Order: sequence, then C-alpha cells, then structure tokens
Amino acid sequence: MANLEALWVAGQLAPGKKIVASEQAHYTHHRISSVLKLDFESIPVDNRARMDLNALEKRLAAKNDIGAVVVTMGTTATGSVDPLPEILKLRDRYNFRIHADAAYGGYFTLAQNLAPAATAAFAKINEVDSIVIDPHKHGLQPYGCGCVLFRDPSVGRRYKHDSPYTYFSSAKLHLGEISLECSRPGAAAAALWATQKLLPLQKGGEFAKGLEQGREAARALYKKLSADDKFAPAFEPELDIVIFAPSPKSESSAESSASPHTTLVEMSAHSRKIFESAATKNLHFALAELPTVFFQNLPATVRRDRPTLTTLRSVLMKPEHAQWLDQIYSILESVV
Ligand SMILES: *Cc1c(COP(=O)(O)O)cnc(C)c1O
Repeated sequence: MANLEALWVAGQLAPGKKIVASEQAHYTHHRISSVLKLDFESIPVDNRARMDLNALEKRLAAKNDIGAVVVTMGTTATGSVDPLPEILKLRDRYNFRIHADAAYGGYFTLAQNLAPAATAAFAKINEVDSIVIDPHKHGLQPYGCGCVLFRDPSVGRRYKHDSPYTYFSSAKLHLGEISLECSRPGAAAAALWATQKLLPLQKGGEFAKGLEQGREAARALYKKLSADDKFAPAFEPELDIVIFAPSPKSESSAESSASPHTTLVEMSAHSRKIFESAATKNLHFALAELPTVFFQNLPATVRRDRPTLTTLRSVLMKPEHAQWLDQIYSILESVV
C-alpha cells in the first residue's frame, strides 16, 4: 500500500510517463504500475544485483518518457543497494522523480558497518522524493504498518477531497489523516511508536547495534562459505542476506562419472535438497532463483542448461544469529 501511494503520487505528477525499476526490484512495482495504468519498464542489473547505471542512463537518454525511477535500497532477494548517489546525479540531468523502496533496507541507515558504496547510498536517502519502509522487516513489528514518507508535504494536495461525510481535524494538510486507503486502524502505528520510544532510532544505540550484529553475521557467514570448497557463494553481501549454492562437482571427481560436467539443473536440485534436509534439522534457509552472473567464480565448465540457478538464501536478521553462527554452520556442513 505504501509503494502504491508513492507511485500514485508519481503518476499524478508526471501523467503519461513511465515508472522504471531494476530487474531485481520487488515484483510489486510492476503490478502496482498496472493497477495505476502507468507504463512500467525494467532496467538491467549489474553482477551484484544493483541497478546498472549505464543501462539506466542509456534508457533516460533514449527518450524523455520516464517519470519516476524506483531505487531499491536493499533488494528482497539479495539485499543489494542501488547506486543512489549516481542516480541522484542523473536526476539533475534528466529530471525524473526518485522513489526509494527502502522496505527491506531502510533501517540500515542506522548501521555503521556497511561497505563504502552502501554507506554512501544511505547517506543520500533524504534527497529522494519518497521513501517506503517496512517496519515488519527489521522494525520489530507484525504486518500492517508499512510507511511512506514524502519529501514535499504539498503532495498532500493530491489526496484532498470534498466528500460531504468526512472532515479533516484541521485546515492544514497532514498526511496520515488522508491516505489512499481511507480509514485505517491506528494500533499498528501506536505499536511502532511505542517500540521506537523504547528502542530509539539512533546510530550506536541498542536497536542500531542489533542491525550491525546481523550484518556482521552475514559477513562472517560469507567468509566461511568463501573459504570452504563445498560452497559457491555469490557476491559479498551488502546488508544481512547471504546467497550461496553448493559447489559444482570438481573436475577430477566429475571425470570419473558418466557426464563430464556439472549442470545448473544438477546444482539447483542440490540446493533444493540442502534446503529440505536443513529444515528437518530446524535450520531454515530460503531459496532464490537468480541469474548466474551473480556467481562470477562459477567455472565455465558448468553447463548452462537452465536460465537461472536455484540458490540458498540466508537472511541473518536477528541479532542472535551472530552468536549462533558456528552452530548454524555445523548443521549446514552435516547436511551437505
Ligand atoms: C518486503 C518488500 C516490499 C513489500 O512487500 P510485503 O509483502 O508487503 O512485505 C516491497 N519492496 C521491497 C524491496 C521489499 O523487500
């Protein structure tokens, strides 16, 4: 709903123009655009799942028909952060609206242990036109209080109506009282407010430290996987999500079998098997279908017999994951 509101406002401000988002953006942007009858287009990603700047610029230069660029601040699949500082520079030249989908990653604005590129992106988040953040991801809330923030409060005019049976509590426009959704329960918002009273959104504070621990756990898991020849991790995580697959069979062991090389079909089946076996030992991964370009170290001998690789996805979003990492890893090893 929050993303719907942001794209609805974007569509009102630039009628007839397109919404673009990266190929790894949340699937909802395409669907929301179709609900709003706005044209939508995907922009390719680089080999770390971030919006490809060259592809975006080429597209902007080709035709003056883009009204808004959705910048994903932490993709749902891999936690990759689109290059916001560079996209802001493109906005100066090509004039479009920027909507930051920070549903997953927004809270990492508070983390002080991100790599330079992600740090630079979050440092610029207050320069975008709208931001969406999901308190049910890292904000310790149940579903039901997705948030949308607008940089220019005058977009509230878009919500104004003169129905005879509703009234506003003051003559001033205030977002929140007027939303696309009409009446909403306040309990979820009150719970979020109370949580933030207890655990304030401060750099270096208790809440921020929890995020940093998840990030640290992801970095540690990535390091372990990289050093272990049983596994093929994708790129280094930018937030707290680690993507990996079981290693393809080595040349020597493959030579003795009937088929000379491992295939993506075999690797994918192996991922699914690990996913299922780990679950029987109370270790719950997720699966993600991802392009093989995210695995730059995948040997050329692996036969590309399907378009994507089924990968294991580990989301280390609880502070406790850091202390449990050795145990998690030993279960993973026993399963493999
Ligand atoms: C989770 C998420 C959403 C919203 O999806 P929900 O199903 O409402 O949680 C939107 N965008 C991104 C990037 C997300 O990670």
